[in-house]
Order: sequence, then structure tokens, then C-alpha cells
Amino acid sequence: MSFLGMLRSMALNHVERFMKRLAPVLGERITRDPELLASVAGDESGLAPQLPAAAVWPQNRDEVVEVAKEAADLGMGLIPRGAGSGKSGAVIPGGHEVVVDLSKMNRILELRPQDLYAIVEPGVITEVLDQSASEEGFMYPPDPASKSYSTLGGNIATNAGGPRAVKYGVTHRYVWGIEMVLPGGDVFRTGRHSIKGVAGYDLTSLFVGSEGTLGFITQATLHIVPAPKAVETAFLSFPDALSASKGAEAVFTKGYLPSTMELLDHESLEAVRAVSPFRIPEDIGAALLVESDGAAEVAQQDLYRMCEIAGDSGASDCVVARNEKERQTMRRARQLVSSSLKEKFPLKISDDIAVPRSQMAVLMEYAQAEALKEEITFAAYGHIGDGNLHVNLLCDVDDLPKAQGMRIKLMQKAVRMQGTVSGEHGIGIHKRDMLSIEQSQELIDLQKRLKKVFDPQGLMNPNKVF
Ligand SMILES: Cc1cc2nc3c(=O)[nH]c(=O)nc-3n(C[C@H](O)[C@H](O)[C@H](O)COP(=O)(O)OP(=O)(O)OC[C@H]3O[C@@H](n4cnc5c(N)ncnc54)[C@H](O)[C@@H]3O)c2cc1C
Repeated sequence: MSFLGMLRSMALNHVERFMKRLAPVLGERITRDPELLASVAGDESGLAPQLPAAAVWPQNRDEVVEVAKEAADLGMGLIPRGAGSGKSGAVIPGGHEVVVDLSKMNRILELRPQDLYAIVEPGVITEVLDQSASEEGFMYPPDPASKSYSTLGGNIATNAGGPRAVKYGVTHRYVWGIEMVLPGGDVFRTGRHSIKGVAGYDLTSLFVGSEGTLGFITQATLHIVPAPKAVETAFLSFPDALSASKGAEAVFTKGYLPSTMELLDHESLEAVRAVSPFRIPEDIGAALLVESDGAAEVAQQDLYRMCEIAGDSGASDCVVARNEKERQTMRRARQLVSSSLKEKFPLKISDDIAVPRSQMAVLMEYAQAEALKEEITFAAYGHIGDGNLHVNLLCDVDDLPKAQGMRIKLMQKAVRMQGTVSGEHGIGIHKRDMLSIEQSQELIDLQKRLKKVFDPQGLMNPNKVF
């Protein structure tokens, strides 16, 4: 037998032993059935899915501990998985790992508005926590556009943002503590249940955005806040994306802080027009979805003032939602952009570069010039209020090399402008080769050394991020 053949048969042997040892604990929730494996083989990155060696669906912390123990003993790689809505390929197996799907650990264990926190298992759907909090007059602010299916564990592991981040910040602000299971089965609790707490290193924050490379998040204490009394929404039309960027900038410069400020450029509007429940005005080149929240009168006054400022900066029209139903139709128009573009174009390569907010117009101009030069169609939409632009290159498979070149140029430009290669989706494998655009080799090596402390055998989500 060849050396490679020997390695393969050893790996196979390990999977069989892993299955045998855990079957008594997990029953039907451990499998090698190809159909079930296919359900956990990919994500929303557009990258090719790959079957793992096995998959497990633990129902509680102790089962995760058992999985982590056996995997360490047999030297098997482990991939934590939430809903698989990630856009960086971070849950795509290399082929030999075990996917640990945490979606069945989906209980809200405690909701304590009086202490401003909730304790949750990692598989709770983001929107479910927000809705439960809202029944008490509270809210969980992080609201990725995928919130109706993404999990809180996935949100923490990617440090997810969303439309409300412009005012409320991203996930890390709301994680007070976690329970983690490390490969080998050790369990640690970090953080606190109080608003303040500075004892020791902030290991909670280290786990936020770690993309499953350090250990499993099996519980989290999340901060909830009183819900605003009112939310007001407007849809503003502009002749083009550049003037929309300048309109957005003017609002901030004048001292206003919207609770949402989202951009839809011309290509995005054209893609979503047919399916949008909100009637997109004809002949517009770009739009901003703007929201303001707070006490009823203040939210309304602020929204009108923001519309006026945008009008002075080039907005041609402003439609203000008259009720909750109209507000939802406007939001839906924004939420449907990604799927509409996916349906319209054979290939949609999505990136999420971010720059200091006031630099958005400069970034937009650069992207437009590059796309023109390379003859690539592109759509820009997303969280313009955070300086976070979803640049989507829309092309045929033949154009892939050109598109990859343009991706790199855009990321280099964002970093030169003091921004980042990824504002919210993470590195995974989609941007693994681009991390060095932003970070020095020394900094990358320091992070690898840190990973070794938590995961000395290199079992957690192997070959992701670095
Ligand atoms: C239409 C659409 C809109 C989106 N909009 C946004 C947006 O507005 N903002 C935004 O930030 N993202 C957005 N995303 C991306 C995605 O939804 C987020 O990254 C989300 O946080 C992923 O959650 P998930 O449960 O699907 O995690 P998964 O995709 O399953 O996993 C993501 C990462 O988290 C790790 N992980 C998952 N659970 C755990 C756990 N319990 N312990 C340790 N590691 C874990 C995985 O290993 C992986 O590295 C969008 C995606 C889509 C498809």
C-alpha cells in the first residue's frame, strides 16, 4: 500500500472508531449518511460544498464535551456549525473533519430584562431572541439580514453586524460572557452577568469573531436593551451611488445618528425591482434606506431632518413609511437584494470591505472606475452608515481571473484607506489568502500561537482563517 493509501485507511479507521464510541451517546444524531452529510457540507459563500467525514447534532453541553474528548483522542478535526448562512466558507469541510451542528441546542435559558441580559444556547435563531426580548419591551440589537435563520453561536463566532449596527454596534458589544468547550473536552466560563467586569484577560472577546477555530461556544450571556418607543423609516432616491454616499455623509456630518442607513445602488435596485413589495421609483440611480428610532416625536423629527439634509445633498425624492406594514415593505426591498442578484447573474462574488465612514464616496468612485476598466458588472449595497460596502462582482465563470484581480485591488484600496478586507463576514477560506493584505506576518503568527494555547493539536476548524 502507498504512503497516501496508508494515511487514508488510518483516517477511515479513526472515523469508524469515532462513530462506534459516540453512537451510544448520540444515537441517530451521529451519521455518515451521505444525504445527511450533504446538508452540512456548505454555506452561503458560493464556494463548492464538501462532504465531511461524519456529522453530529449534540443536544447539550455534555454531548459536545464527549465529542470534543473523542475527537482529540483520535486526532480528528472538528467544525462547529450554526445555520450555515456564513459567507466566508468557514464551515466548509476539507473532507476529513467532523461537522458539529449546534442548531439543536436552541433554548433561551433565561431572559432577565431587569438585569439587561439573556442566557442562551448557541443554536437559538437571532430573531427568536429579539422577539422574546420584545415581548418584555426590550431588544437584542445585532440584526444581520440573515437574522430569521442565522444562529447566535454563528453570530458570535463571526462578530456579526447588521443594519442597526450604525447606531447600536456589532455583536461583540452584546456578549457579556460565554461557556466554551475546548478540544479535549475542557469546559470554561468567561465573563460575567453584570454590566461591568474587568477581571483578568478578556477571553470572551477573543472568542468573538474566532470563526470556530478556538473551541465551541456552548452558552452565551447576551446583553439586551430597552426597545425604542418608535421607529421611523424612509426610502430616499438619488441619481447615482456617488450622490447617495455624499448624502449619507452629510447626515452624519450634521450630527444625526440614524438607526439604519443602507445603500442600494442601480444594479441592486434593478435586480430587486421585480420582487420588491415596495414599489421602487422609476429612473433612479441609487437609494438609501434610512431609519430613526427613539421617543416617537424625536424619531419622526430626526427622520424628517435627515431627509432634508439628504435633499440638500442631491436626493431627488423621499418616501416616509406611514405605518409598520409600509416600513416592512421598504426593509424587505433591501433584504431581497442579495438573492435577486444571485438569481439574475451566473456568478456573484461577494465581499464586505469596510473603510472609515467618511471615505465611502472615495471607495465607491474607485470601485466604479475599476469595474469600468475591467469591464465587470458590479453591484454595491449594504451598510453604508458603517462604512461597510458589499461589493458584488457579477460575471461569467470565464471572467473569474479578472474578478479575482479586482477583488484584491478593492481590498488593497480599503486597507490603504485605513479600512479592512472584511467588515463582518469573516475570513474563513474565501479571504484566507487576503488576510496578509491587512495584517503583517508577525501578527498572523502571534494569532497562530494564541490558537495553539486553546487548540494544541490544531483540531478546531482546521485550515480556516490562516
Ligand atoms: C442573505 C444573507 C444576509 C446576511 N447578512 C448579514 C449581515 O447583515 N451581517 C452579517 O454580519 N452577516 C450577514 N450574513 C452572513 C451570516 O449570516 C453571518 O455570518 C452569521 O453570523 C452566520 O451565522 P450561522 O449561524 O449561519 O453560522 P455558520 O455559517 O454556521 O458558521 C459561521 C462561523 O461560526 C462558527 N460557529 C458557528 N457556531 C459556533 C459555535 N457554537 N461555537 C463556535 N463556533 C461556531 C463556524 O465554525 C463558522 O466559522 C448574511 C448571510 C446571508 C446569506
